[in-house]
Amino acid sequence: MNYKLEHIGIAVRDLEVSIKTYETLLNTKCFKRETVESEGVITAFFQTENTKIELLEAINENSLIHKFIQKKGEGIHHMAFEVKDIKTEMSRLAEEGYRLLNKEPKQGADQKLVCFIHPKDTSGVLLELCQELNS
Ligand code: ZN
Repeated sequence: MNYKLEHIGIAVRDLEVSIKTYETLLNTKCFKRETVESEGVITAFFQTENTKIELLEAINENSLIHKFIQKKGEGIHHMAFEVKDIKTEMSRLAEEGYRLLNKEPKQGADQKLVCFIHPKDTSGVLLELCQELNS
């Protein structure tokens, strides 16, 4: 089994408010906050038994999270699957005709290499592939 649901990304308007909501909901503390300048986001992570929840707030108006919220409001933004070898998986998917939003793996939050797949090719869900940086 190559694909493991690593996390679910949720676009939020106000990270502090949503962190409190999810801390209470999941009855656990947010274990990591991280700004990813290149994506224009600040993220907060929660561990659950089988996966993680990533909250994302835009830090500027160029951020895709800002655009997402303008268009759709808060909500599920992407699902992330961890794979063992992101480069191999990216070339396999590109050959199968999936549109990759970045041609090379890029550094994402939480020490990961990431690549996004166009939602038009995945029944409407933005998918992130990720691989631990030091694996
Ligand atoms: Zn993510």
